[in-house]
Amino acid sequence: MNRDSLFPTYAPPELQFSHGKGSWLTDTSGRQYLDFIAGISVNTLGHAHPDLVEALHTQAQKIWHLSNMFDVPGQAELARRYCELTFADRVFFTNSGAESIECALKSARKFHAEQGHPERIDIIGFEGAFHGRTYATVNAAGNPKYLEGFGPRLPGYKQAPFGDMDALRAMTDEHTAAILIEPVQGEGGLRPAPTSYLEALRELCDAQGILLIYDEVQCGAGRTGQLFAHQWSERAAPDLMATAKGVGGGFPLGMCLATGDVARHMVPGTHGTTYGGNPLAVAVGTAVLDHLTAPGFLENVRERSAQLHGELNRLKTKYPDLVTEVRGKGLLAGFKLGSGLNTAMRDRLRENGLLAGVAGDNTVRLAPPLNVSAAEIEQAIAIIDGALESLQRVPVAAAGSSQ
Ligand SMILES: *Cc1c(COP(=O)(O)O)cnc(C)c1O
Repeated sequence: MNRDSLFPTYAPPELQFSHGKGSWLTDTSGRQYLDFIAGISVNTLGHAHPDLVEALHTQAQKIWHLSNMFDVPGQAELARRYCELTFADRVFFTNSGAESIECALKSARKFHAEQGHPERIDIIGFEGAFHGRTYATVNAAGNPKYLEGFGPRLPGYKQAPFGDMDALRAMTDEHTAAILIEPVQGEGGLRPAPTSYLEALRELCDAQGILLIYDEVQCGAGRTGQLFAHQWSERAAPDLMATAKGVGGGFPLGMCLATGDVARHMVPGTHGTTYGGNPLAVAVGTAVLDHLTAPGFLENVRERSAQLHGELNRLKTKYPDLVTEVRGKGLLAGFKLGSGLNTAMRDRLRENGLLAGVAGDNTVRLAPPLNVSAAEIEQAIAIIDGALESLQRVPVAAAGSSQ
């Protein structure tokens, strides 16, 4: 395929998919692949789910787009349902994860400004975080690789070491507006923050009048077996939360959720979006939520998660020299390999019919559709087993970059 007319930002393999069904993708030669990356944790119900196809099709015959200058059919109702299911009182719809984070960051600063503290602008993020590719989000995550060459760093962004409460406490002061954390780090290497750590963050924020922002763009939408990952604890609710990816099931949809106290300052003129939560996105997002809240859906996610993690741990025991750690939470799972081996492993898995991703810290990332079957997980594990076995027999040269 000739990609000369595209920005060279991506370098995909020589492979073209023609269609998908459930957890399976078919390429143009007719070969089938088991999709355990699901558009990076996006295709919640797999490919071409009939309910999502129908929701999109039905809405497409009515109204595609209005902009938010008119009431978008179904939007307020979808927001109401998410509020009922979470800490939130209000929702702002977006098209992407980065935009959802942007809305959360702006809302946090606006909140303090309205309290008479415009000097409280600092957002404390964490090392290894990923929040998107806009200016604010690359500054919030602070990954030097994503900042280099794009001008000076923006003021008001700091990073604390992940999981170190004392280091974090030492960084908060009268300029701190918010703490921003992924309850499970995705790109950074599938690192879950312990629930006790999130609870401690909540306490710290309450004590110092700091807002707590979760980035559940990747770990939300049922991925960990709760609707949102922080809901594994009842004492870790945030003030703001960004989500996207899985909530649209493949249609671009994101949300910034907030308490009423915070959201009430985002009055007309303060923020906006042309496409965010448009009729097509809302129709699909509503159908996704119907599934996420259907009886037994999250139970299945938990059962499949236990199966996947159990099997990955078995492989770790079987290949102790290759697999150094099993990572992640729920169906956002991964395993850590020796330096630079994760990309080689991902390529070998693909050659053997399993689509996986990589993440930081030499991890291979697995994020299958949430309605994946037990048999499909068995098939994926068999392919991983085979690839580890071949890697043990024929080691590859470590391939530099891990992401
Ligand atoms: C993917 C991701 C983002 C950015 O989402 P986009 O839709 O690509 O803008 C932000 N945060 C996390 C945790 C993500 O995984």
